[in-house]
Amino acid sequence: MPAIKPTCVRDIKLRVNLADVVSRVVSLKKAGGARFKGLCPFHNEKTPSFHLDADKGFYKCFGCGKAGDVISFVRETEQLTFTEAVEALGKRFGIVIEYEEGSGPSREERSLRQEIFDLHEVAAEHFYQAFKTADATGDFMRRYWTEQRKFAPELADEFKIGAVDAAGSGLGAALLKRRYSEEALRRCGLFFIHDDAQITLGALRPRFRGRLMIPIRDHQGRVVAFTARQTDLTPPDDPAREAKYVNSPETPIFTKGNLLFNLDRARTAVGEGHPFVLVEGQLDALRCWSVGLKTAVAPQGTSITESQLVLLRRYHSQIECFFDSDSAGQKAALRFLPMALKAELEVRFLTLAGASKLDPDLLFLEKGLPAYDEVRRSSMSAMAFACRAVLPEGSAASAEQKARAAQALFELVSAAPGEIARSEFLNEAAGHLRIATPALHKDFQSFIQRQSRMGARGARAEEAPPTPPPASRVAAPVHTAERDLLFICLHFDWLGKPLSAALPHDWIDTRHTAGALLNRFLAEFEHDTWPGRDNLDSLIENDEERALLASLLFDTPVDGGTYKDFGDPKRKAEQALNELRTRAFEPLLREIELALANAHTDSNSDPNSLLKRRSEIQRQLRQPLGLAVAV
Ligand code: ZN
Repeated sequence: MPAIKPTCVRDIKLRVNLADVVSRVVSLKKAGGARFKGLCPFHNEKTPSFHLDADKGFYKCFGCGKAGDVISFVRETEQLTFTEAVEALGKRFGIVIEYEEGSGPSREERSLRQEIFDLHEVAAEHFYQAFKTADATGDFMRRYWTEQRKFAPELADEFKIGAVDAAGSGLGAALLKRRYSEEALRRCGLFFIHDDAQITLGALRPRFRGRLMIPIRDHQGRVVAFTARQTDLTPPDDPAREAKYVNSPETPIFTKGNLLFNLDRARTAVGEGHPFVLVEGQLDALRCWSVGLKTAVAPQGTSITESQLVLLRRYHSQIECFFDSDSAGQKAALRFLPMALKAELEVRFLTLAGASKLDPDLLFLEKGLPAYDEVRRSSMSAMAFACRAVLPEGSAASAEQKARAAQALFELVSAAPGEIARSEFLNEAAGHLRIATPALHKDFQSFIQRQSRMGARGARAEEAPPTPPPASRVAAPVHTAERDLLFICLHFDWLGKPLSAALPHDWIDTRHTAGALLNRFLAEFEHDTWPGRDNLDSLIENDEERALLASLLFDTPVDGGTYKDFGDPKRKAEQALNELRTRAFEPLLREIELALANAHTDSNSDPNSLLKRRSEIQRQLRQPLGLAVAV
């Protein structure tokens, strides 16, 4: 439960213009009145189906079904929790956030995260000052930076590169002086602290010693962790002495797999003709930046994850991979490819014609930005790259080798969502592998069938059901009667009271979002406490409900209060009412049929009374239910 006061949440929604917030991510075009449209940030599309109504403060995508308000937009596009999204908006628009008194752990949780963010800013500044200081450590690290890594001093200033001496001294004292809570010091990841130790200066054993410190920022630009490069100053008793790079551990503000180095800057530089460039390490990304290639990002020391790619996809659909040409780099590329296709990213691989060894850092250091054009000229599409990887023999390959290669590619192609993309990939692969296109398509179909048979078996065998693909999660227009009635409650609330009188609550399927909300709404109408459609916050229990509500509120009346394509609301409500009754009675009728069928063997059931009950239900069903609306 959010600890922010509901009045404050309402205030944010009133005062923040949704179009201002969305236009930072989506380029919006006017669509009449306070309405705008643009390319949806949540799915890949060529024509805009993302609509927003600035007056109402709601958006909806008619392509993928995503809908919501300003808070859900910030949550989704910036991967924040509800509380964080409200706080971020407050900060951006100068609105003071008020919290509920004594609302328990969530408030502590919030302040702990806030504290750890704050602590990281202080630590980054501390390390940076040590890097700048004219003493043994500072002098050594600056020399290391310029002479060994061959970076300019200005780049260190820009990224706040830091240093820490062999003892790791100073930081603990600086943080203690600022009176951070014990919890924040224990969980910030910058120290090793014994579980039962009192928090004193002596108990704070620094994790990073004698290393060059690279601050890691999240996509909002907040320092959340550090990567520490080993140097000659790294002491022999460092438990990770041999590790070239040591990262912060995961903390309340840092999850490795969710973060890409330099995304905070790169995301503002991507655009038409300027795709993301994915490199392997932070120093590669810094090298790219230093020569003027501003769109480079790097994973966090681990291999790339799906959630990192989804995060990239939010900002741009094209990505160029620039991995080392050694076999580890190539393997990483092959692991990465299916995830990238699944995230609907357009991938190209940067390569250098005729080069046997390719290291982005060295290449850009030697040749500067012109090297980028060079590697782009000889770049390969995802399929070309994959084909070369699975069939290095090329046209000299035997039929058997080709068949094996095709199977490996099928795994990859099947990761791509959508028939069109798959078909395009197969066409391209057929060309590279020199296989007849129809034959490849046919083999792919049998591969898919085999896979789905195996998948079905696998799903039965395993206890956990597979996670549904995103497409099926968004639009599930099954409970249309409940949905229609919700729409009616919102837009024609004069029907709410008669509806609550006519519709017994057990006809509503409350296992689903629409039903649960409808039930709650009707209770309000029944007790004459309906707060009006603009004051529903207190009736909303979760994000799904919020999203559904947003999408229902999005439809506005055309002139004269009529809703395009919706029809007469009273008739529509009666239709839904009758539908719900039929649905509620169906199981009863089935039960009676069953009992009748078994009546001759079961002495407990009396066929006559069963028949009577059945005809009574059928009679009721023939009589349409109406709503008593006072005129
Ligand atoms: Zn969409």
